[in-house]
Amino acid sequence: MSGPRIGILALQGDVREHARALTDAGAVPVAVRRESELAEVDGLVLPGGESTTIGRLLRVFELLDPLRAKVAAGLPVFGSCAGMILLARDVVDGRPDQPLIGGLDMVVRRNAFGRQVDSFEADLDVVGVPGPPVHAVFIRAPWVEKAGGAVEVLARVAEAPVAVRQGSLLATAFHPELTGDFRVHRLFVDVVRSSGFGR
Ligand code: GLN
Repeated sequence: MSGPRIGILALQGDVREHARALTDAGAVPVAVRRESELAEVDGLVLPGGESTTIGRLLRVFELLDPLRAKVAAGLPVFGSCAGMILLARDVVDGRPDQPLIGGLDMVVRRNAFGRQVDSFEADLDVVGVPGPPVHAVFIRAPWVEKAGGAVEVLARVAEAPVAVRQGSLLATAFHPELTGDFRVHRLFVDVVRSSGFGR
């Protein structure tokens, strides 16, 4: 028996780490670079990187509108860091014209933790992730500045939400693919399984 086919947007990198995490979590990972590949997945991971660059590449690869349509149709998506930014409806401190996919009713602040603390790690309790706290790695991470009532906050750093869920959309400001603890990916695979999308 094989698990759900979960795509990984493969425009900028961080693909192998997510593939390993998804495999560990019981899914079958596939790289997605074109619309025909997007059409065949039950869920999608948007890796970190640079949201402005990924947004530009989404346009170049003609994936932006197909992705928006898929999200509107209920495709489960997990966005990490830059991927979280792409799922927001608006971004503070983004580039003007930076394209977003949207789907999550939230505004995020890009590079929110400031220059002095470019990167840091923290142990977080994450709603939906059983067991000990998740060791979270933040790299020039955003936070959620404003969230609509339908957005469930799964974890915070100080006051700021850094993990959220709205229906089949999941986003973390941190990088759960980097630590060898794949419980967040397992949560996403469960979301994909229970969404029944594409079946
Ligand atoms: N700062 C990046 C951005 O604005 C995100 C960083 C990351 O994905 N690690 O897109």
